[in-house]
Parts: sequence; C-alpha cells; structure tokens
Amino acid sequence: MPETPEEFWERTRVDLHVPPVAEWESWPFDGELRVRELAAPVEAERPRHGVGGVGCRRCERGAADAIWSDERWMLSPLDKPSGLPVVVLLETRRHVDFPDLDDEHAADLGPLMLRITRAVLAVPGVGNVHVGRWGEGGEHCHVWFMARPARMGQFRSSFAAIWDDVLPPVPEEIWRANLELVRRELAAS
Ligand SMILES: [Zn+2]
Repeated sequence: MPETPEEFWERTRVDLHVPPVAEWESWPFDGELRVRELAAPVEAERPRHGVGGVGCRRCERGAADAIWSDERWMLSPLDKPSGLPVVVLLETRRHVDFPDLDDEHAADLGPLMLRITRAVLAVPGVGNVHVGRWGEGGEHCHVWFMARPARMGQFRSSFAAIWDDVLPPVPEEIWRANLELVRRELAAS
C-alpha cells in the first residue's frame, strides 16, 4: 500500500540527516548545516499562479518576449539575466498544465526539447544543458533549459539551479548576445 502524505511525514520526520554535502563538489555553500524540521502535509495542494488561466502572466504576455515560437509553443528568456549564461523557458501558447498536454503537444515535446538543447549547446562556452520540469510555481506548462558553463565541475548537477541565484547576473550585453545565438540556431534548425 502506498503511504499517505501523513504516513510519509510521520515516518521520515524523525529520521532526517545531513548528507555529506560538504564533500560534494556541486554544493554551493560552506559551513555547518542543520536539517529543517519537516512540516506536516497541508490540507490541500497550494494553488499555483494562474490557475485555470485566471490572472496568468504568461497568457497575458503571449509570445511578446519569445525568441522562438510556432503555433503551439514559445521559448522565452527570464525577464532579466541570472547567473547561468542562458536560462530559457519552453511554454505552450495556450494555457494548459503539463500533465494535461494533448497528443499533438506531447508529440512536439521530444523533438523540441532536443532542438532547444542543441541550440543552447551551440552557444560557445556552454558545456551542458539541464532540462527541468517542476510545475510548482505556475500552472501554465513550462519546461526549463539551463546552460551549464563548460568545464565548471561545480555546476554538474541539479544544484546548478541554485548556483544560478548564487552567481552574479551575466552582463546584459553578453546575455542578449547568448540569447541571439540561441534564436539564430533555432531559426536555422
Ligand atoms: Zn497561462
């Protein structure tokens, strides 16, 4: 029998430990760590931004800031530079949650993910592209693509998403040039 969230919480909350992150090359921080107390499950899933498309920032903005789009999808950068050289979001044109994608969107997704990964990899100095789908903040379907600088071993894992906030933002003109390279690659592919 699968555990209920309450059973899961009761079992795990008394047995938390700090993994040996101090030995991990990818861990961004230094110093003593304590594990946070594990909060009990809440009554219901927290509502995400733009539920049902109501007040959804992406729906309101459309493809205005997209560096690439077609009739069903659009690819946009964040509003401003962050630490990693390229961070772009693949989103649907219409408001839909990732698990509710129809067959047509689902069939697009594999080839698109590869096209975008290759386009970001074409930016000089990029060694890998991390692809992420969490869907915790906003309901509007979005998939993250994060460029990992080449030969930077500390970013070789999921902590790259945290490093993105630890690092100083990429200078505006470099950020724009990187996005332009991605745009051109996608237009050519
Ligand atoms: Zn939306």
